[in-house]
Amino acid sequence: MSRVGKSLPSETHSSDKAPSDPRELEQSDVHASLDPPSVGPPDLENLAMNSQSPFGLSTGPSTASVHAGEARQKLGHSITDPIFASATYTFSDTQSIIRFIEEAEPREEYGRYGNPSERVVEAKLAALEGGESAVLFSSGMAALVGLLMARLSADDEIIFFDECYHRSREFCSKHLSRFGVHFQQVPTGDYVALEAAISPRTRMIVSESPTNPHLSVIDAAQFAEIGLRHNVETLIDATLCTPYNLKPLQSGIDFVLHSATKYLGGHNDLLAGVVIGSREKMDPVRTLRGIMGGINSAHNAYLLERGLKTLALRMQRHNANGLAVARFLEAHPRIERVLYPGLESHPYHTLAASTMRGFGGMVTFFIRDADFKTTAHVVDSVRIPRIGPSLGGVESLIEQPMVMSYWNYSPQQRQAFRIPDNMIRLSCGIEDTADLIADLDQALGRT
Ligand code: PLP
Repeated sequence: MSRVGKSLPSETHSSDKAPSDPRELEQSDVHASLDPPSVGPPDLENLAMNSQSPFGLSTGPSTASVHAGEARQKLGHSITDPIFASATYTFSDTQSIIRFIEEAEPREEYGRYGNPSERVVEAKLAALEGGESAVLFSSGMAALVGLLMARLSADDEIIFFDECYHRSREFCSKHLSRFGVHFQQVPTGDYVALEAAISPRTRMIVSESPTNPHLSVIDAAQFAEIGLRHNVETLIDATLCTPYNLKPLQSGIDFVLHSATKYLGGHNDLLAGVVIGSREKMDPVRTLRGIMGGINSAHNAYLLERGLKTLALRMQRHNANGLAVARFLEAHPRIERVLYPGLESHPYHTLAASTMRGFGGMVTFFIRDADFKTTAHVVDSVRIPRIGPSLGGVESLIEQPMVMSYWNYSPQQRQAFRIPDNMIRLSCGIEDTADLIADLDQALGRT
């Protein structure tokens, strides 16, 4: 497409400036028999900026999950957003192309720059996080790669807290480094070490919160303040907390990233990722995505939109299940230790309790005096959680990290990662709490 070759996107690509509304297509390009609604297009840009106000009213998280980012009247009077299965978008005449290029007419152009379904999801996610602009990618890793490629250059440095997702760190240490970007990691939660590591070439500091599988919780306000003081950008991967439990942008964090594959989609049936931040900082990310092409199909974006509608409801159950299961396990004689930020015994409990609405569905626990085989037997004995990687879906998932993610590492490396053989990670779904507890009880009783 010609537009990439020009000096456009972040400067002038119309689709970068505001989420377009399918009805703008309808009004100009769709057959009149579809009876276009008389209501004007919603101010999606404005919605995206105000997480509290899908209707200009103050609303709770469930109302926002259902309605934010969506037009009140849609094509064909449909209550759901239509899926435009279109790789390209046509113009009525040359003048309309010129109007589009000159930004008089926000609309779609070509599928790699986005599609109407994606734009609705982006507006909804920006609203839920309380950010100006969300850019959706085809996976969480694509979102991370897109963000870092857009924001970093040769000789810049990025510093991670060391409990961040190992693939995110691997992208930096093995791949971004080939392009001259320096990488460091410091112990998670050690703000003194973080500040000491920052140098004039540092451009970005990164953490997750809570981390996976150790569930360490970051003080987003302190992290943001360090970034501000040293003039470095801050990124929090908030996959495990979701905007229902914490909104890091409100603490001054520059970018929030999610693997939408997890809680945001919520049904273990799609991959997606998103980065949310200020329009100014996100414009170059959107531009680069248009060149890299890691977008979502309209079908995938629609699935994500549908999943997001129940985000608040699902998170309430994930939070309740996580806390009840953690308490049950902590009291069980076969359990050596439980990591869950909602437990008073967790090292970050005070911070989590004062900053988060809930503590999520993931519970990490250690079987007392168990070797690799005994621990595996517990995993193999549960009947409700499925055995597999990932988290955040309606189905509970269980795994032994030393097998699932660290099998190819040496015992010394696993020790350095703090992944002992007797560790189990359980991502509670939305099943009935009592059923999950009874199932764990029978599994622990059989081994
Ligand atoms: N961030 C976290 C915290 C994750 O757990 C994952 C995946 O497991 C990712 C990012 C990457 O997301 P995706 O698998 O959607 O690429």
